[in-house]
Amino acid sequence: MLIQIDGSLGEGGGQILRTALSLSLVTGRPIQIDDIRAGRQKPGLLRQHLTAVLAAAEIGHAQVEGAVLGSTSIHFVPGPVKAGEYRFAVGSAGSGTLVFQTILPALMLAPGPSTLVIEGGTHNDAAPPFPFLERAFLPLVERMGPRIQVRLERPGFYPAGGGRFTAEIQPVDRLRPVHLGERSETTGRRVVAIVANLPREIAEREVKTAARLLEWAPETQVIESTRDSAGPGNVVMVEVESRGVAEIFTAFGKVGLSAERVAKVAVQEAQEYLGSKAAAGEHLADQLLLPMALTGAGSFTAVKLNRHAQTNMEVIRRFLPVRFECSEAGTCVMVAVRPE
Ligand code: ATP
Repeated sequence: MLIQIDGSLGEGGGQILRTALSLSLVTGRPIQIDDIRAGRQKPGLLRQHLTAVLAAAEIGHAQVEGAVLGSTSIHFVPGPVKAGEYRFAVGSAGSGTLVFQTILPALMLAPGPSTLVIEGGTHNDAAPPFPFLERAFLPLVERMGPRIQVRLERPGFYPAGGGRFTAEIQPVDRLRPVHLGERSETTGRRVVAIVANLPREIAEREVKTAARLLEWAPETQVIESTRDSAGPGNVVMVEVESRGVAEIFTAFGKVGLSAERVAKVAVQEAQEYLGSKAAAGEHLADQLLLPMALTGAGSFTAVKLNRHAQTNMEVIRRFLPVRFECSEAGTCVMVAVRPE
């Protein structure tokens, strides 16, 4: 019954822990994870990971050992998943969207609707930024059946954090498979720059640079400026919409990095995507694996599958009777979920 997970597997990052928690809740299988985040500079549970463990334990009435900061092992025995109203606070600028993604699979298959309040980082480097969650990831999960409404109340940028969003989840008994073939023609394009407690001029330079590099019309440029944030923050997002899928490529402003350089980073990722026929960029691809596997079928095209995705597939296969068939398909990779 117990599934033992080696946290140093493949990439050895936080995703191994989150995927294992999600699937422990969905399958009811207890887990023991050792060497958590062994591949990272500071191994063990950081605030974001600990919050994910505690959130999973709360919704799943789990018995947990090892749920403390810095812990490199946890033992997690889930009980029945209970839908309801929950609030989870990361307590740092750690990503709240990753905490949300950890418990979403169980709550979208729970016996009733749930309402969540999540506090922490909402716009983090190396995690799904809130707009990506809302406009790229969740619409695809909704096509599998559940209704998931999220609302940003306040952005939280690293290092101050202090962000907050809500989520309403209407579950389903059974998820249905989704197939995302080659991407259709582009139907929508935007370059959005957000500045929180920073001069608007930074965002103006970013959207202008990105639109020029992409050769997009001035109307595609959007600036969002806010003072309602605990600290300063800046992000540039290149958004590409085509039939049935939206993708968002982000780059974060940093001290010492010019606005033009930040814009260029987001544009480069978008250009790689636009140069392929893939439906999913690198990040969307690794995040789609788990919900797709839960449907037991489905397929999608991706720009590439990185080590993160490979590691995620290995962990998923420890829990679910599926395999992933990956094949080259012209300018992209086709990933198909098949029953084992
Ligand atoms: P660590 O690996 O240090 O434990 P972690 O727990 O934050 O860190 P990872 O295992 O690296 O996480 O997983 C990060 C997740 O964030 C992945 O699912 C990845 O697809 C997603 N992600 C990273 N950058 C972006 C981005 N720019 N847009 C959307 N999603 C992103």
